[in-house]
Amino acid sequence: MHHPFPDLHPTALSRRSALFGAMGLLALTATHASASKKKNQPEVWPRASQVPGGVARLSLGPAAKRPSVFAGEVPLLVVGDAIDWTALVGIPLAAVPGDASVIVRPEGGAEKQVAYTVAPKQYREQRLSVPPRTVDLSPDDEARYESERAHLATVMATFTDLRPDASLQMRVPVPGRRSSSFGLRRVFNGQSRNPHSGMDIAAGTGTPVLAPLPGRVIDTGDYFFNGGTVWLDHGGGLLTMYCHLSRVDVKVGDVLKTGEQLAAVGATGRVTGPHLHWSVMLNRAMVDPALFIAA
Ligand code: ZN
Repeated sequence: MHHPFPDLHPTALSRRSALFGAMGLLALTATHASASKKKNQPEVWPRASQVPGGVARLSLGPAAKRPSVFAGEVPLLVVGDAIDWTALVGIPLAAVPGDASVIVRPEGGAEKQVAYTVAPKQYREQRLSVPPRTVDLSPDDEARYESERAHLATVMATFTDLRPDASLQMRVPVPGRRSSSFGLRRVFNGQSRNPHSGMDIAAGTGTPVLAPLPGRVIDTGDYFFNGGTVWLDHGGGLLTMYCHLSRVDVKVGDVLKTGEQLAAVGATGRVTGPHLHWSVMLNRAMVDPALFIAA
């Protein structure tokens, strides 16, 4: 329900004060929680939602070959065909609302910028009580976390080719009540921590966790906050992460089809009870998984 994401460390709050300050300024319009559940939108996956934690879909027009597109130095997922390419931009929860742009490098053509706008979104606050040792880390736990964070940075940088004809509509990895807790600003034991960067799905320990798309296992482990964890690579910088697992049924390098079991739900890591924490990452930004699944 509330493991921190590794790039947002509970005991490194000072380093993130600027981030939290920026997020505090987002208290503008109150479009909250499940903005993704609007009806009458065309069936495109993921749905567009140009807010922090959302996805921008940027039309790039026709080109004989798939153009390379970057947000800073990070490559973006580009879908479509020679008639019309579309760049999918994962917008970080920490993004500052306003103007943004990506860099398009067409094969054999001149580089250009494509602009878009990030609208503000105010996420609600969530207060949670957890064991104190998971909020104020001991030196040993701190060292463990730092080493895990360095390892996971390499996992998150994975970028492989997108498989052809890839649908990006995801199947829900476990049945169950899906919370709309993505993006919540969290306060653990009275202390502000990083926002919630995934979707929590209520399910009992042992419930099978199924691959939402074809993918390759790129990491498994038992992490301080996330507990038993599996990462899948779906190509093009689209990654998914499954946390708090009681059991991992796959190993790095395994290739899974949609619906294949990869693990079982549990309550490992920093949790208040068994559930699946599911994160979806695009260009190294955690985005709302709800944008990838049918309501
Ligand atoms: Zn969670």
